[in-house]
Amino acid sequence: MKLRAMAKINLGLDVLRKRDDGYHEVRMIMQTVQLYDLLEMTVSEEPGIRLSANLSFLPTNENNLVCRAAAMLMDEFHIRKGLDIRLKKTIPVAAGMAGGSSDAAAAFVGVNRMFRLGLSTEELMRRAVKVGADVPYCILRGTALAEGIGEKLTPLPSLPPCHILIGKPGISVSTKFVYGNLRAGEIEDHPDIDGMIRAIREGSLSGVTARMANVLERVTVPEYPVIGQIKRHMVEHGACNSLMSGSGPTVFGIFDDEEKARSAYRALRTSRLARQVFLTKPFVNGGYTDER
Ligand code: ATP
Repeated sequence: MKLRAMAKINLGLDVLRKRDDGYHEVRMIMQTVQLYDLLEMTVSEEPGIRLSANLSFLPTNENNLVCRAAAMLMDEFHIRKGLDIRLKKTIPVAAGMAGGSSDAAAAFVGVNRMFRLGLSTEELMRRAVKVGADVPYCILRGTALAEGIGEKLTPLPSLPPCHILIGKPGISVSTKFVYGNLRAGEIEDHPDIDGMIRAIREGSLSGVTARMANVLERVTVPEYPVIGQIKRHMVEHGACNSLMSGSGPTVFGIFDDEEKARSAYRALRTSRLARQVFLTKPFVNGGYTDER
């Protein structure tokens, strides 16, 4: 079985407060994009889970979220057969695009189908949150409001057609550092998440792009100037707007015009501001219904 584990971007990201347990309460507008890792899963008579990946620095043991997800379901249902998984990564790693979470989501969907466990999407999502706050969303996919720590999901209508330019600079940004330096209580200019939801419901792309905002940029943009440089580069090359995704450092730009998007893509590649550059589109269908 082959499954596409798609990346996400955050069209809006607000942090409401830090909870007593240390987690942050968020309000995010999530959007799946057609940039994906490939998971190839094969049932084996030999018990256990064996993972191989095309990136040598990724863990292939239980520290990989794919193994954790597959093992969780296989243990619960006492599956005695084994599983061989090949992971081909394209989504930038540690980039704010939920690559690991999406791989885990695909593993949940794959194990459920291959061993005919019969779990509904909701039942899978309930288990998935134990692997990571973003994993239930990566099972749901599409456009959605994520609240709580990211696990409370409200599906939204699809984003109007557009082109999405993605640029990941060659720096590493620790999610822990970003949230650790946020001072959630001091944020005054919160993103207009409700206005963005209205714009999505109205099918207004300009209404969405006018409200793109991510409070985590307060920490990352001053610390890593390249993030601001890529944002400006995209707008100067015709993006309706640009923003950092998640806790970064990946930046995306939304374009309403394909030609502009293509020329911005070429310009960003030659600029050397970003180490990885992709031109993609929203994934509008949602769910895993199209895949076998
Ligand atoms: P998020 O947007 O949820 O914060 P991210 O893009 O910041 O995700 P990931 O790419 O998911 O981060 O990975 C972060 C870390 O998780 C990596 O350093 C890696 O060692 C570990 N990891 C575990 N499993 C995976 C996987 N399948 N793919 C990528 N990283 C993984």
